Amino acid sequence: MSRFANKVAVVTGGGRGIGQEIARALAAEGAKVAVVSRSAASCGKAADEINAAYPGSATAYAVDVADHQAVQDLAKKIGEELGAVNILVNNAGVTRDGLLMRMKEEDWDTVLDTNLKGAFNTVKAFMRMLMKAEDPRIINIASVIGLIGNAGQANYSASKAGLIGFTKAVARELAGRSVTCNAVAPGFITTDMTDELPQAIKDAVIGKIPLGTFGETQDIAQTIVFLASPAARYITGQVIAVDGGMTM
Ligand code: NDP
Repeated sequence: MSRFANKVAVVTGGGRGIGQEIARALAAEGAKVAVVSRSAASCGKAADEINAAYPGSATAYAVDVADHQAVQDLAKKIGEELGAVNILVNNAGVTRDGLLMRMKEEDWDTVLDTNLKGAFNTVKAFMRMLMKAEDPRIINIASVIGLIGNAGQANYSASKAGLIGFTKAVARELAGRSVTCNAVAPGFITTDMTDELPQAIKDAVIGKIPLGTFGETQDIAQTIVFLASPAARYITGQVIAVDGGMTM
């Protein structure tokens, strides 16, 4: 099936983990994908892996999504090199965990600048292109932590809750141009981000997941593929939890 033939997608944080799998899944269905991450090595490697399976589908762009001007320049470059963008997936995200008592200002700023301002930057940069595109989609990767909070993640919880509010506002603003904007809230997914957690925490988390395991990157990617597809044209402003039942 080639649901995304002639479509251009941008996936931020596409260098590893969930973002790389989203980029791969969109490429598998015919999209030309801009794989954006902070380090050139990371997005370059991810694009090479995707191109090995789907030749010519992926192009790497090393950009810090927190840098407003750099994201403006990125949009111009992608427009010239790949064409007008149909699908924007805001997936770049970081954690700087710690209890509030010990959380440094820079830990707050880094997380908010990447996870929340990063999405503002990309939507601002790509919205004109999206408004003219066929089947235009914005999909923001939030987190169950943005819905329920978590001790030690005040910065991350605020950034993801903010991203959910941003999603709904953008959905309302752009609905008149048929651009849909939704958020996906993953639960605990096996990636570098969760590999960092101590085993005792992982065991405690698994106890709270009705389906009894961490999810896989494919679980998120296949949800994105659906939301990005023409079949999801009537869904906007929603938060879809993909979390093994954690937040039901
Ligand atoms: P990883 O840490 O595995 O990968 C994060 C990706 O984001 C990397 O490619 C990284 O780039 C990129 N990135 C980070 N900061 C920036 C930046 N400033 N500019 C551009 N790219 C950046 O994360 P996951 O795959 O686990 O998570 C992906 C998203 O899903 C995040 O938004 C995360 O919050 C969210 N999420 C993850 C969950 C999980 O359980 N894993 C659960 C809920 C939500 P580089 O490779 O160059 O370092």
